[in-house]
Amino acid sequence: MNVAIIGAGVAGLACAHELEKHNISPVIYEQNAYIGEQYPHVGAMLELIDRPVVDVIIYIKNEFDIDIKPLNVLTKLITYSPKDSYEVRGNLGYFVERGRNSNDLKNQLYAQLNNTKIKFNEVADYETLKNQYDYVVIANGSPSFSKELGCFNELFNGFIRGAIVLGEFDPNALIAWINKDYCKSGYVYLTPFNNKKAFIGLIASDVNESEVEHYWDLFKSTENINYPIVEEFKLNHISGFVYPHTVSNTLLAGNAGGALDPFLGFGQFTSIAMGVMAGKSIITGDDYDKLLKYYIFKQRKMHQFRIALNKGTNKDYDKAIALVKIPPLKHLVYNTKIDFVKHGANIIKFLSKRKG
Ligand SMILES: Cc1cc2nc3c(=O)[nH]c(=O)nc-3n(C[C@H](O)[C@H](O)[C@H](O)COP(=O)(O)OP(=O)(O)OC[C@H]3O[C@@H](n4cnc5c(N)ncnc54)[C@H](O)[C@@H]3O)c2cc1C
Repeated sequence: MNVAIIGAGVAGLACAHELEKHNISPVIYEQNAYIGEQYPHVGAMLELIDRPVVDVIIYIKNEFDIDIKPLNVLTKLITYSPKDSYEVRGNLGYFVERGRNSNDLKNQLYAQLNNTKIKFNEVADYETLKNQYDYVVIANGSPSFSKELGCFNELFNGFIRGAIVLGEFDPNALIAWINKDYCKSGYVYLTPFNNKKAFIGLIASDVNESEVEHYWDLFKSTENINYPIVEEFKLNHISGFVYPHTVSNTLLAGNAGGALDPFLGFGQFTSIAMGVMAGKSIITGDDYDKLLKYYIFKQRKMHQFRIALNKGTNKDYDKAIALVKIPPLKHLVYNTKIDFVKHGANIIKFLSKRKG
């Protein structure tokens, strides 16, 4: 069987891994000359979001036979709302390196492949590939093809303004800021590479490329952030629902398949899972959308959080922080394994209906 994969990214490489397990050697078309990220950063995998999965790294190993070595464990989360703050400690997830070295997530996936051919410097021509191959997996990290195929329903369109900063950091701590003044309905987060270097990303919704600069400056002045910056970038951040995930012999995976969640803009775990499911569907003939049922369900729940965040004011953000600090609630959210996304989203949906 001949399979072409567009994009040597997280989903594309995970798909190739699954196909190889069943003796299929796909061909990946990658527009870059390398595997990895143009802009280095540190991605987080949050235990709270991935429940009922208990440990995402172990899950990926057990379910997909893929080894991932995280950069660090995440044991501290500090959240600042405009007038309040909140700190929680525990087994909160992982940090994963994204860049060009061997520790980078894509390079870790690449190292586990044996028979996949990668055509570097090749911008894939989908129209040709779909006629040349039995299957095409689109995993190009954006909704461009999904839009063309009429499968993409946009939910979030904004920018991520990123910077690599130097300073003193706790390598196990994620810091987040929510404030309507500079994030609109987004947020800012800091993820450390180590105790001397960190990534800061501002995700702002419904802003254009030049507006995001204004919000970035406002964030730095409001929060008194003045770390020396060694690298910075801006990227369009688009999230949406994709349906169906299959169009004739073509399967959509990763961000192209709607993996980027519409609340936090996280998509690493879902992209790996989607890549694997695309591979499974090709091998077994099982319906790809059915294999993705759990991930589609989670995305819908995350969308309810997005709606609440959009509606919320700075006062609501302060109230939410005050609420989650109440010991029984804090215990319920962090010390039990309740599926926070599933149940929290239902409560939020109910409350926002009452609010009007
Ligand atoms: C700055 C930033 C921070 C993030 N932080 C987090 C986080 O903390 N937690 C989290 O879970 N997620 C995070 N994400 C999201 C996560 O990284 C993505 O959801 C995930 O990488 C998507 O995987 P993918 O395989 O769909 O795309 P990618 O991994 O982006 O790979 C797509 C590949 O396709 C190639 N390509 C594109 N077009 C073509 C073409 N036409 N022909 C050939 N090749 C092509 C690209 O060069 C690239 O190699 C972040 C994203 C960014 C940008």
